[in-house]
Amino acid sequence: MADAIYRKYRPKTFADVTDQSHVVTTVSNQLKSGSVSHAYLFVGPRGVGKTTIARLLAKSVNCEKRKTGQAEPCNECSACVSIGSGSCLDVAEIDAASHTGVDHVREGIIESARFRPSSAKMKVFIIDEVHMLSASAFNALLKTLEEPPEHVLFILATTEAHKIPETIISRCQRFDFRRVPAESIAKCLKDICKLEKIEVDDDVLSEIARRSDGALRDAQSMLSQVFALGSKKITMDEASLVFPANDAKMQFALLNAISANDSALAIRLLNEYSDSGVDIADFTEHLQNIVRDILFIQLGGLEQFRGKYDSASEKELSKIAEKFERNVLTSFLRALPSASKNASNSAIPQLALELLILDVLNGSSNNKNFSADDDGGGPANSSGGSDLSNQNAEKQEKQKKPESNANPRPRLGSAPASPRLDRG
Ligand SMILES: [Zn+2]
Repeated sequence: MADAIYRKYRPKTFADVTDQSHVVTTVSNQLKSGSVSHAYLFVGPRGVGKTTIARLLAKSVNCEKRKTGQAEPCNECSACVSIGSGSCLDVAEIDAASHTGVDHVREGIIESARFRPSSAKMKVFIIDEVHMLSASAFNALLKTLEEPPEHVLFILATTEAHKIPETIISRCQRFDFRRVPAESIAKCLKDICKLEKIEVDDDVLSEIARRSDGALRDAQSMLSQVFALGSKKITMDEASLVFPANDAKMQFALLNAISANDSALAIRLLNEYSDSGVDIADFTEHLQNIVRDILFIQLGGLEQFRGKYDSASEKELSKIAEKFERNVLTSFLRALPSASKNASNSAIPQLALELLILDVLNGSSNNKNFSADDDGGGPANSSGGSDLSNQNAEKQEKQKKPESNANPRPRLGSAPASPRLDRG
């Protein structure tokens, strides 16, 4: 099912591609003017449309009905249909991760490239994860790229361009693909919901978009998991069943507490998350990303991660950024990696982060330097309100007992915005 949605809604024309307009425009213009290159390098994160555009290009150059001055494939002629179904012998999709050796490149690609296509106009080699090829395989490929036969088109795709020899890169026309902005992903998902006649709340779609981190393919497979719940109208409450418990709302609530200097609230929130089954190591790592983004906002670099959050979250982050003192932020950021590491090794996963929060807030009032201690035991001068420290110590004692692990995972949206301090 997850794959089915992705395949079903894979764009059949350049006009249907979500985002990547800089690539689509240039490639379309080349098709229109008949100036398609012999080798392309598509660089970018996974799931953002590299192989989708590669296949569209393979179709368009081979389309029997495409007229001069047009870019789109007709999707009806035998070339378009066979390429669309993956049965065209002249269009080869090679996963370099599983064929890294020089022999395969020689036989499967270089030898084959010498012969004219059997039925299509052009032989197209789409080599995915091309950075996985061995050095000798790259050398063999380079010879063909230096003098490509007229009837051959190479489309190399990679998530890691720095692993590709400069000699190969210089022979290709390079396009850098971007993460798809959250708003574009949400819109694309909404269109799919309409076509599938399934009503999904907007905040669910925004949450999927945020979680997919710019990878449309991941967003589509999350949407199909949501569809699989079987309901015709899906709310956040239902959808939360398929999301792992690590919600940005939790991170935002915690950061709000820290930026307001409220260590008692921050630590209570953290313990509630932990009690409800949140993976604290994962949470801390995610927190680190968000804190880094807040720093970018303070530096005036909102553009750095434009599209990573939906507009409501962007506003929320900007508000948090206004409240944070710069030195608190940088110290927090510096110490978070070791808190994250300690969380996975500690009997009390949240302990390192608790101490870090206390140190940060103590540091901001005393203007001291601090860092999360590697053994999980922080400096003795932490102060976060004496009554809280006692409560917390009791709580941690309790958590060492096995029965406290029996808590179910929380549902999304159940993150407490302002828990009462007299509980627990
Ligand atoms: Zn066609």
